[in-house]
Amino acid sequence: MARAATSVRDALDSALIPLTAAGCENPRLDAEVLLAAAMGVDRPWLIVNSREGVPGPAARVFMDFVRRRREREPVAYITGIKGFRHIDLAVDRRVLIPRPETEFVVEAALKLPQGARVIDVGTGSGAIALALKHERPDLDVVATDVSADALDVARHNALRLGLRVGFVQTDLWGDLEADAIVSNPPYVEAGERLMPDVALFEPHGALFAGADGLDVIRRLVSAPVRFLALEHGQGQADPIEALLRGAGFTTVDRIRDLAGIERVTVAHR
Ligand code: SAM
Ligand code: GLN
Repeated sequence: MARAATSVRDALDSALIPLTAAGCENPRLDAEVLLAAAMGVDRPWLIVNSREGVPGPAARVFMDFVRRRREREPVAYITGIKGFRHIDLAVDRRVLIPRPETEFVVEAALKLPQGARVIDVGTGSGAIALALKHERPDLDVVATDVSADALDVARHNALRLGLRVGFVQTDLWGDLEADAIVSNPPYVEAGERLMPDVALFEPHGALFAGADGLDVIRRLVSAPVRFLALEHGQGQADPIEALLRGAGFTTVDRIRDLAGIERVTVAHR
C-alpha cells in the first residue's frame, strides 16, 4: 500500500524548527511561500487546504527549498520570482531583490508629465523601469546598469512582461539625455554589517558605495535633468538634500517608507 502523503500542515510545521534555528525572521511565511512554489499553488490555497496531501515530487522540492533557506539564501532567489508593485519580476543572484521601499520611487515618478523621457539608473532586475512603464506606458523609459549580468535579467523581464524599455550598459546615465532620472543606487556604507541573507547572496556591487555610502549619489546629483527621485539609506536625507540644493535643485521633498523612515528624496528644478 502507498504511504499516506504528508499533509500541507505537517509539511509547514516540519519546516518551522529548522528555519527558526537558522535565524530566519519569518519562518512561517518563508515556509508557506516555499511550499506554495514547490506545489505550484498560491498561499491562500495552502491555508484553505491545509489537510490536503503534498505529492511526493513537490515534497522533495520543498525539502530542498528549506535546505537552501536554512543556509539563508533569500526566498526570492529560491522561488526565482519577486512581486513589485503590479508586476512579477524574475530574479536570481545576478541582481538585487527589489524591495518594497523602492516602490515609492516609482510612485514619485507617476507625477511626471505626459511623454517625459526617464532614465532608471542602476536598474538591476529592471524593477523601477518596468513597473513605471507598466503604469505609465506614455513615458519614454530607458534603463542603465554597469553590470551586463543585471541587464540580461532586466531584458528577460521586459520580454516576459511585454514592456518596451531601452537598456544600456553604462556608468550612471552615460551620454543619454532625459527629463528625469529615477534610481535606487548603491548606498550602503563600506563595512556596514548586513543580514546574512543580503551579505552572503546579493551582489555587493548593488549595495556598497564608499565610506559614507554616498559615492554614487554624489555623482548622480550632477545629472542634467529637471527631476530626480532617489532612494537612499536612513540618515542620508540631510546630506543628500544639501548635495541636491548645491547642484541647483530648487524643490526637494522627502518621502518616508512604511516604517516612517525618510528613504526617498525627490528633487525638481
Ligand atoms: N533598481 C534595482 C532595484 O531597485 O531593485 C536595483 C538596485 S541596486 C541597489 C543598484 C544597481 O546599480 C545594481 O544593479 C548595480 O549593478 C548598479 N550600479 C552600481 N553602480 C552603478 C553605476 N555607477 N552606474 C550604473 N549602475 C550602477
Ligand atoms: N536596502 C538594501 C539593504 O540595506 C540596500 C539597497 C541599496 O543599497 N540600494 O539591504
